[in-house]
Amino acid sequence: MGKGKKGKKSQKAAAEIEEKAVEDAVVAAHEEEAVQEIKDVVNSLRVGKGFVLADVDTSGTPGFTGDKVDGKAALKACETELSDLLERLFADSIEGGRRSVLLVVQGMDTSGKGGIMRHVISVNPQGVKATGFKAPTKEELAHDFLWRIEKALPEPGQLGVFDRSHYEDVLVVRVHELVPESVWSKRYAQINAFERKVIAAGTTVIKVMMHISTDEQRDRLMERLDRPDKYYKYNPGDVDERGHWDAYMEAYQAVLDKTSTVGAPWHVVPADRKWYARRAVQQLLLEALRGMNLEWPPPDFDVEAEKKRLAVS
Ligand code: AMP
Ligand code: MG
Repeated sequence: MGKGKKGKKSQKAAAEIEEKAVEDAVVAAHEEEAVQEIKDVVNSLRVGKGFVLADVDTSGTPGFTGDKVDGKAALKACETELSDLLERLFADSIEGGRRSVLLVVQGMDTSGKGGIMRHVISVNPQGVKATGFKAPTKEELAHDFLWRIEKALPEPGQLGVFDRSHYEDVLVVRVHELVPESVWSKRYAQINAFERKVIAAGTTVIKVMMHISTDEQRDRLMERLDRPDKYYKYNPGDVDERGHWDAYMEAYQAVLDKTSTVGAPWHVVPADRKWYARRAVQQLLLEALRGMNLEWPPPDFDVEAEKKRLAVS
């Protein structure tokens, strides 16, 4: 080999090493940025003492600097990580782990609750237990309001998703006086005690209110009436419910005041922009799952011995 050729080769190797270093730095910077974005989103949405729902700009994008195109791309970019973390959670339970995650999604009609399932969670149907709560059946009404909720809780290793929840029992029930005040007013404390029990059993609880404006809701309902493929989502009763908007907001404020606990805080997600709301909920999920330090379970067999056995089989 001539000297010149060797020099060229090592030059090429050096360039490759440098290129790799730059690449690693870019990836690290992106990761750092991503972690910072998660913190920004989570911190700006979390409901603490003195939180005023009426002060929230429903068209805002707190913690996120990009536009719709960036938001959609960011959502896509994290799909794999979310899916991977959910698989780890599932694998953990196979090895006897007791941990699970429960995502509670509340919001007025058309706020995008269903879209969370379709666009954020869709990545991993395995290990996901989704439940939509409608007006209670006769059987459900014969039990305590938490009876049907308990049955729908995620098993170890699962992500449970609630589209509406036990909170309806202090929202629609309060607004329409479906039970006397003496009954619903006790439910906040009952809910807090129930959630404490759920958390103690190994479930991480993430509570999200998808918050839209009345104008945005009118547009979305109108769209349902303009599109035959959306008729099925339209319910004439939704228009009547709009008449109770202020009472609903008051009921939501009470929920946030009384049930945003340290163990299970609420997050109010501005939801007039669907792309933002989806990204934000994805970030809340990622933050929770990352914080669980989910490792792949180690083998309970001798890997090398198994390889040898398999090779000759
Ligand atoms: P949707 O989510 O649009 O399919 O509608 C479900 C309906 O069920 C909503 O109108 C809710 O207010 C109602 N709903 C859910 N939970 C309860 C509850 N515990 N009591 C009364 N109505 C409820
Ligand atoms: Mg509806």
